[in-house]
Amino acid sequence: MMNLTKQMIEIRSLLMSVDGATALTLPAIVVVGSQSSGKSSVLEAIVGQEFLPKGSNMVTRRPIELTLVNDPSQAAEVAEFPALKMYNMTDFQQVQKILRDLNMAVPDEETVSGDPIQLTIKSPKVPDLSLVDLPGYIQVEAADQPASLKQKIREVCARYLEEPNIILAISAADVDLANSSALRAAKRADPKGERTIGVITKLDLVTPEDGKLLLTNRKYPLRMGYVGVITRAPSAGSIFRRKTGSQAYVAQQGFERSYFKENRDEFNGTSVGTKVLKRRLMKVLESSMARALKPMHDKVANELEETSYQFKVEFNDRDLTSEKYMAQTIDNLKLSVKEFSERFGRPELKSLLRSELDQKVLDLLAQRYWNKPPVMNKKRVAAQPSDYSEPPLNQLSEATQEDSYWRRKLELSTASLTKLGVGRLSTTLISDALLTEIGVMLDNSELRTHPGMKEAIKEAAVAVLSKRFNSTSDQVENCIKPYKYEIDVEPREWSLSRQHAVGLLREELKQCNEAYRDLKRTVGGNKLKQIMTYLQNENNSVGQSIAKENIGFSPGLILRGKEALFLSDRAALLSMRLKFLRSSSCKYKENKYRCPEAFMDVVADKLTQTAVLFLNVELLSDFYYSFPRELESKLSSGLTPEQVEAYAKEDPKVKRHIELQERKELLDLALGKIEDVMALRKQMA
Ligand code: GDP
Repeated sequence: MMNLTKQMIEIRSLLMSVDGATALTLPAIVVVGSQSSGKSSVLEAIVGQEFLPKGSNMVTRRPIELTLVNDPSQAAEVAEFPALKMYNMTDFQQVQKILRDLNMAVPDEETVSGDPIQLTIKSPKVPDLSLVDLPGYIQVEAADQPASLKQKIREVCARYLEEPNIILAISAADVDLANSSALRAAKRADPKGERTIGVITKLDLVTPEDGKLLLTNRKYPLRMGYVGVITRAPSAGSIFRRKTGSQAYVAQQGFERSYFKENRDEFNGTSVGTKVLKRRLMKVLESSMARALKPMHDKVANELEETSYQFKVEFNDRDLTSEKYMAQTIDNLKLSVKEFSERFGRPELKSLLRSELDQKVLDLLAQRYWNKPPVMNKKRVAAQPSDYSEPPLNQLSEATQEDSYWRRKLELSTASLTKLGVGRLSTTLISDALLTEIGVMLDNSELRTHPGMKEAIKEAAVAVLSKRFNSTSDQVENCIKPYKYEIDVEPREWSLSRQHAVGLLREELKQCNEAYRDLKRTVGGNKLKQIMTYLQNENNSVGQSIAKENIGFSPGLILRGKEALFLSDRAALLSMRLKFLRSSSCKYKENKYRCPEAFMDVVADKLTQTAVLFLNVELLSDFYYSFPRELESKLSSGLTPEQVEAYAKEDPKVKRHIELQERKELLDLALGKIEDVMALRKQMA
């Protein structure tokens, strides 16, 4: 015979994974019973395993949706918490512990939560059933609780007690049925007693005659009747010797079987025994599943139609999964890297490094040559005692090979440049530039909305660059080594560098003038002049009374005045040097001592050319080769499916797209299965 329930349970779990489709629930058996009615024992007798948490303070706070799957391929019972992604658990003490923790996670003041715990148990011995163990509904209601709380508990339970669910109302034989809160709750939800099965537990505690009376209850007649069970074998002596796990189950079965056998005559005409209960539950569930089949088909078909329509309208039926999205991301990234490599190659590398070295050259010149104003104002130069030992800058225009002071100065300046650590400097410069560019590239891609992934990709770039960093830096340093000893200059090189140096100085002069103009604008031309004159006078007459005549300039203004003085001195100096550099005195390389600006430029140029050669091969080309591969391995094979999903769903629009598609596929699958079941039933009918 085709097992309808099994297939329906499969469909049910499919539908359960459809988000926000609470209407798509298939019938389940809902178990109610007051504390100590034997509710846990009944559930465990059905499962054949002890799995529910026990203890006097253990009150169920969340519904447990228990799915039993008859699975002949299993050696014994295995449990799964699909929502926790825990599968194939065979340790039922662990299951008990998890259930306890999940229950206890509901805070005391909330008492109950409507959020169900999903538990699946597969075994060759269990019937296919879907059961719901409701929260401490009855006992809490009976206890002295505020009305609002009762209301909340009722709301949580009411949903489950509705049609098409079957209610399993559990009452103990040794308690007056009129007081059974389980039956009371069942009556409220199912007044005609059409979908309630009564279970009377602990029949061993009353006489068989009384037991029979309970099972043929006339006060609350149930269409599906009552079933009597004994779900615990009396414990022999101490509780410490109580049997546990499946042992207890075997003992219980044995005890129950022999009890009803002994009292066969007394129980004649009634339904007794756990086996009978199980069979009845299966039958009842099966027929309500059968009844639910057509309505469910229509609901799912409807839902599918609605979802397909949305999918078409919102996403034009464009297929998208997390994996696809990720693959697309990787492809786009690779393309971006390729495009980027075309934009950022050797020429860009060169100009980047060159401008860095130009800056260093300017700094060195400023530090070593332009550190004092040209001698225009004799008094002021004389005011600086340290200047006595050094020739004024004006004399630079007469410097020759024989002049040891200027010769040494140029040698030192050149050494400062060649021994700057060009290897490390240039490698760092290029690495940083690459990382910045990668960052810009990411910000302009769909990864904008994926901060986690963006970080991971940047890390991949850093990893690729780090691998090469030291060797590149060393290589570059090695290759520029000869320049630390000797620098040969060709006439052509000289002339190019001279031109370049003129350009640099001109730019520097421009900036100097701009900065000066800015100061003038903020402070005011006249005022600035006043302060500058004041400062000049002060400089020229150290210690004289005039210095004390601070005509009310604030420290801020004084600072600006000093800055303006510096800028105007620097501008005068730069103009002088520019003029000189352009003059015939600097036309030939032999005059390098008087034209350090041109000579240093030659050095910077040579360093750049050599460094770029290696940086291009060792760092840049390697990066363009390795980075896409690193991305591939990190993003496509290095991530778990969950990570890929999490990544794709980080973007709300992509999330909606993927989820809508998943929903559509799930509904489609479920509908197909329902139709298969219907077709099969038709055939067999
Ligand atoms: P729950 O509180 O409704 O879940 O009830 P339990 O299943 O924990 O049972 C309450 C108590 O009744 C426990 O001490 C069980 O051992 C005992 N009990 C359960 N079923 C039977 C039964 O059929 N016969 C007897 N004698 N005791 C039972």
